[in-house]
Amino acid sequence: MEISVHLLEPSKRHAKPQDEKNLVFGRVFTDHMFLVDFKEGQGWQDGRIVPYGPLELDPAAMVLHYGQGIFEGLKAYRRANGEIYLFRPEQNCERLNRSALRMCMPEIDPALQLRAIEKLIKVDRDWVPHSVGSSLYIRPTMIATEPHIGVRPSAEYLYYVITGPVAAYYAEGFNPVKIYVDEEYVRTVRGGLGEAKTMANYASSLYAAEVAKKKGFTQVLWLDGVERRYVDEVGTSNIFFRIGDELVTPPLNGSILPGITRDSVMQLANHWGIKVTERRISMDEVIETTQSGELKEIFASGTAAVISPVGEICYRDKSYRVADGTVGEWALKLYDEILGIQYGQREDIFGWTRLISEE
Ligand SMILES: *Cc1c(COP(=O)(O)O)cnc(C)c1O
Repeated sequence: MEISVHLLEPSKRHAKPQDEKNLVFGRVFTDHMFLVDFKEGQGWQDGRIVPYGPLELDPAAMVLHYGQGIFEGLKAYRRANGEIYLFRPEQNCERLNRSALRMCMPEIDPALQLRAIEKLIKVDRDWVPHSVGSSLYIRPTMIATEPHIGVRPSAEYLYYVITGPVAAYYAEGFNPVKIYVDEEYVRTVRGGLGEAKTMANYASSLYAAEVAKKKGFTQVLWLDGVERRYVDEVGTSNIFFRIGDELVTPPLNGSILPGITRDSVMQLANHWGIKVTERRISMDEVIETTQSGELKEIFASGTAAVISPVGEICYRDKSYRVADGTVGEWALKLYDEILGIQYGQREDIFGWTRLISEE
């Protein structure tokens, strides 16, 4: 497919943010976006890069009623020499297709997704921030657009990509967060949509996140939706526990989103000779090992923050400090390594980074 390009007139281009360090996440968008339409029987058509702006959507568009909407999140990183790289973008394209399948939405050729993302970044390359830690956030999205009231999969879809510069997540240093274990609300259940990156999972997470925020916590720790005993995820990130000298993370059992950062953490830890185990971990075990001192670190993993150390957990109205409450050794080592690979300061032994060519 040809991707056509309609550029915004130079006089209408937006000023780029002056202060890269104080960008609020998700508020500033670049001058262009990519769109491509799907119609049953015709497939994907009319891939185009156009000026960023509102979409025209019928009020009966099925995404607005029945929630067929999925997305991805990845970043473009500018290195000291000016080159721009993506981090494991093929994984995001494949995961979007797995989410699509689960939501009865059409797959889209991963090669087309990647070409669209790269072409869009080239058009808006001056928007990619320069400081280490800051990056261009990329949000591929697919929605059901057929105007139809009545429950069944839509016959028409829009895939689009928008991007925007974001600051380093830890502008004020790499600080541990406080998390709240929710026993009342669940994000998803096995057999539900948990393993798909679908809008509905975010909708179902909002209420508990607000409750946690009001109580003074940064994130919710989600338990399994069946027994509410085993740890699933934290906020919109995967979770890791260092127990003794083993790294433990819950297995991908259907209710957990298969994070690309999660996979990178596991591969790196393995490479360093750390024993990595995917197994269920109950809250009883978390509390017991926290109290015995065997639990040395808890951290979350995801594209936005890379690694997010957990300093304190609140369970059944009691607060527990994780080890001494400061950033753990493995969390810091993983954070430095992954960020280092993304910005070209560490050797990319796994071939995770992908250069966006100059032309
Ligand atoms: C996106 C997401 C993650 C993290 O995935 P990455 O690919 O590492 O960014 C984890 N959990 C949930 C629920 C998510 O939506």
